Amino acid sequence: MQVFNFCAGPAMLPVEVMQKAQAEMLDWQHQGVSVMEVSHRSAEFIELAHNAETNLRQLLNVPDDYHVLFMHGGGRGQFAAIAMNLLGESGKALYLNSGQWSKAAAVEARRFAQVDELSIVESMEGKQQVVLPELKSDMGDYRYLHYCPNETVDGIEIHEPINSPWPVIADMSSCILSRPIDVSQFGLIYAGAQKNIGPSGLSLVIVKKSLLELPALPMPSIMDYRITAANESMFNTPPTYALYLAANVFQWLQQQGGIEAMGLKNQRKADELYAYIEQSHFYRSGVAATNRSRMNVTFQLADESLNGEFLAQAKARGLLALKGHRAVGGMRASIYNAMPHQGVVALIAFMDEFARNN
Ligand code: PMP
Repeated sequence: MQVFNFCAGPAMLPVEVMQKAQAEMLDWQHQGVSVMEVSHRSAEFIELAHNAETNLRQLLNVPDDYHVLFMHGGGRGQFAAIAMNLLGESGKALYLNSGQWSKAAAVEARRFAQVDELSIVESMEGKQQVVLPELKSDMGDYRYLHYCPNETVDGIEIHEPINSPWPVIADMSSCILSRPIDVSQFGLIYAGAQKNIGPSGLSLVIVKKSLLELPALPMPSIMDYRITAANESMFNTPPTYALYLAANVFQWLQQQGGIEAMGLKNQRKADELYAYIEQSHFYRSGVAATNRSRMNVTFQLADESLNGEFLAQAKARGLLALKGHRAVGGMRASIYNAMPHQGVVALIAFMDEFARNN
């Protein structure tokens, strides 16, 4: 039985990448040891890290006036790092609240700085919809505006660019590398790795160099963007195995035709799944059509008493981890880059069969 893993994160990684990792587990680059067991200062590992950065820059078309940093501490590590690095002594920041993760980012930033928050989700006819406010410079003296283009828990995506008088910081943990983006529109982009990049723990930061000209608050050195950049993401020992897998994911993405090709594949998967949900009376989406996530498809059964049975039968068919986040309930199918189209086809077939039998 073929298994399809719809987990929101840590999520499935491309099968080809996992097979390569398996083949190289005990012998990386003919050294007779694994990549986990070599110095991060060895020529071989430095080359791997260098290639990872070069390939990522190519994939996302990162301009030269941006640093690409590989750091520790996942997404939440960056919730704190952003505030400590970018706000200075008396800085203030504006956070757009569109769901669970942007809310959590604001809570963390508030530990270090003054944070104003704007709620941007409204409920219209029982469906959640993002209504972007007009952002004007006289609203406040903000060092940056933070938002989350893809809310992993809620299944809400903001498709349009944010028009902001302040540098835009985006938490792209669950949408990075899933579609083309224009990096130059952002002051900083960050992502925890465990969805579209690699294993958890690693985080990616793409930051405009000019944002680091201000003096930062005192902070642990490993969280400091300036120190990380000056040491090419090797001030201390990086999470080497995670970086190795990420490097292989970047190569895999290039073999797939890059981010544009990935974006088309992802759009097709999401379109098919939402189209099925839309025409069904058995399932419903609680998110307005304009804000449905292409990565995390949340849906509910009209009769929620069938939830347990739905999940048990799905699991028996090899369709794993469809349970929605505890904060919102219902179901969630996460269909990141590594999820093949075939997985979505299998899910729709199961959903249809379950609906007919119940
Ligand atoms: N931001 C978003 C959008 C996320 O989906 C997550 C994790 N699911 C996080 C932040 C937090 O990441 P971590 O658990 O790596 O700290």
